[in-house]
Amino acid sequence: MRVLIAGAGIAGLSAARALEMKGVECEVVERRERPPTEGAGIFLLGNAARALGDLGLLDEVRSVAYPIASQRILSPSGSVLNDVRTANVWKDCGPCLALSRQSLAGILENSLNPGTVNYGLEAVSTVSGGDKRIVRFSDAREREYDLVIGAAGVNSPLRSAVFGPNAARQIDISCWRLVVRNNGEIDGWTAMIGKGRTLLGIPISERETYIYADCRSSEFDDGSVDVLKRLFGDFAGPLGPIVTALDPDTAVHRAVLQEVPARRWVADRCVLIGDAAHASSPSMAQGAGMAIEDAVVLAELVTKGGSIEGILQRFHEARIGRVAWVQKKSRARDKLRTGSSTIRNAVLRLFGDSLYRRTYEPLTHPLLS
Ligand SMILES: Cc1cc2nc3c(=O)[nH]c(=O)nc-3n(C[C@H](O)[C@H](O)[C@H](O)COP(=O)(O)OP(=O)(O)OC[C@H]3O[C@@H](n4cnc5c(N)ncnc54)[C@H](O)[C@@H]3O)c2cc1C
Repeated sequence: MRVLIAGAGIAGLSAARALEMKGVECEVVERRERPPTEGAGIFLLGNAARALGDLGLLDEVRSVAYPIASQRILSPSGSVLNDVRTANVWKDCGPCLALSRQSLAGILENSLNPGTVNYGLEAVSTVSGGDKRIVRFSDAREREYDLVIGAAGVNSPLRSAVFGPNAARQIDISCWRLVVRNNGEIDGWTAMIGKGRTLLGIPISERETYIYADCRSSEFDDGSVDVLKRLFGDFAGPLGPIVTALDPDTAVHRAVLQEVPARRWVADRCVLIGDAAHASSPSMAQGAGMAIEDAVVLAELVTKGGSIEGILQRFHEARIGRVAWVQKKSRARDKLRTGSSTIRNAVLRLFGDSLYRRTYEPLTHPLLS
């Protein structure tokens, strides 16, 4: 079977790893000239760790990650609204881990057969050619494939080529991501939630802490470190002082959050996975987890055999419930954290533990029944 994967992000690299483990060769094209050298942190919940285990990479990821066993939510003044021992929810599934994005991407890429990823090459368009799918590349070549896996991210050109106009839509939230020195004060996933503003800190190693901050896009302005400091300068410890102390030249990643509503993203020998199929706000920290799970499930179904049409239909049926659940819960979390602080604080104080359990417990269930 001739397989093309467009995009070497977490979804594309995971799909290539999953297929190669099953003895299916594939070609990955990535429009960037080289692997990313930048990138802040990433938080992986137990289901993502389980999927990395299916890829045979959990031990390696664990060896460079920081274990996270709790979720703590504070008000901007530092009072505790909720403190959950998250390890209890995930104990039969997998560990929750935080690490640098670069480390995760590096482990995935190094696990592939040499030469699997072709950098500096873009899949520009694709058409159905009867019993093949024809893909046109940025070097003007055209090639035929039995299966094309679109893993080209939230603004995937392949999604528009196969399924029509860009389905991505902006969420009214903009964010900063950066890495600071780990000062030892933050040990678990720690968020401080203010009026339409969230500040989050997660250790990713003994030396480094990943900081994520967001606000309504109307407040983001030019997204400079000065704006970040102005919006979060009155937050108390443990996170406020970290932001206040930032140098204006600190390297930060900025983004406007986008969503791609989950639906049936399979058609004529083409399937979308990862953010191309179901990008979401990061409120559930499930983007990477869902992408790695997509890869594991797709490879499993490909090796079970049958027609490509049947494989892709089964893939859709296996995935739509989980990815739609993550999107639904991400929207609910966004609404809670951007809404009235009186209601939010009461909900988190009274129901925080059961909300956490009810939100994540379905994701501990097996990927394929
Ligand atoms: C602010 C923020 C914080 C997040 N935090 C977390 C977190 O803590 N935990 C978590 O699990 N998830 C998190 N996520 C989500 C997670 O980062 C994504 O879900 C995940 O990285 C998606 O990977 P992907 O491979 O689908 O897409 P991408 O990472 O976007 O990769 C797509 C790749 O395809 C390439 N490409 C694009 N077009 C083409 C083409 N035509 N041909 C070839 N190549 C192409 C791109 O260059 C890119 O390298 C976060 C997201 C955001 C925005």
